[in-house]
Amino acid sequence: MDQIIHHLKNSNNVLLASHINPDGDAIASLLSMGILLDTLNKQTTVYNQSPIPSRHRFLPSVQRIVQNVNSGNYYDTAIILDCGDLQRIGKAAVTVNRIPVVINIDHHITNTRFGDFQLIDTSACATVEIIYRLFKKMDVPINLSAATSIYTGILTDTGSFRFSNTNRAAFEICAEMAALGVDPYYAAKHIYGTYSLGQLKLINLAIESIEISQNGKLSLMTLTQSMLYETGTLPEDINGLISYIKNIENIKLAVLIQEQMDGKEKSTQPQRGQRFHVSLRSDETVDVAAIAASFGGGGHPRAAGFSIESKVVDLKKRIFSLAETL
Ligand code: AMP
Ligand code: MN
Ligand code: MN
Repeated sequence: MDQIIHHLKNSNNVLLASHINPDGDAIASLLSMGILLDTLNKQTTVYNQSPIPSRHRFLPSVQRIVQNVNSGNYYDTAIILDCGDLQRIGKAAVTVNRIPVVINIDHHITNTRFGDFQLIDTSACATVEIIYRLFKKMDVPINLSAATSIYTGILTDTGSFRFSNTNRAAFEICAEMAALGVDPYYAAKHIYGTYSLGQLKLINLAIESIEISQNGKLSLMTLTQSMLYETGTLPEDINGLISYIKNIENIKLAVLIQEQMDGKEKSTQPQRGQRFHVSLRSDETVDVAAIAASFGGGGHPRAAGFSIESKVVDLKKRIFSLAETL
């Protein structure tokens, strides 16, 4: 950490990036780290390839997140947040490879230790827990904007203090952020408060898609682009649906297959692609980080994922064959 702090103090132009399809922690890490660098009077580009889901747009200074970066030689430092490997940031990985110093701040067990400096703590409940420690170590005051992001990163990555990564620090840091003025009700209202009728209809389709393995230990949910089209919802609306199949009694491994858009970023027509994002969740007996890694992805022991090109029937077959090992 000391080396990283030393380097941060000497940097001038910094690129901050986190993983595509960002969750609360990926967004909150960008924003809180951005504030820390503002305090040090650094120039920053705060980047994420994907649009920011609406439930996270209440976060202070969220509008500073951009979807484009300058050329690699513009920056002296890149800080990659909440990413197990560099490719997780998406297209800008090419740019980052040209930046002289790359700092990797993360909490994924599958982290490949890319970059020149690493600040990896797999026991941290969220990447913002590590950033909180940076604030403390550097004696930078946590303003209300930074506190709101740190609180939200922990709230979302721990599934509101329910997931197995919920540690003592989660409560201690969130209590401190509340003391600094964060309103837990305000944050919860934005993140969990409301849903559209389309989102409710998507839940209905998602529940209809559920399949259970013969031994009753594996649950599978499949979401297609046409389901999103039919209900007028966005990929971000899929977030959280996996909990329904994870919490079915006796389930040890829950799998959500999500059909990806074929090529184009946006389309008004339903698309049929052969590319899927697969989310994995488990109880304490199954290490899904290892399963995801065997498919070229990564994550945490109880929550992991991967992307794959395959026919859906073949993918389902491979997934159901996992049930026999449970
Ligand atoms: P998700 O299923 O997308 O909610 O992701 C669960 C966890 O797995 C998160 O911590 C992700 O960062 C991680 N993860 C998801 N997809 C990938 C991937 N393709 N490669 C590496 N890690 C992933
Ligand atoms: Mn994340
Ligand atoms: Mn995280």
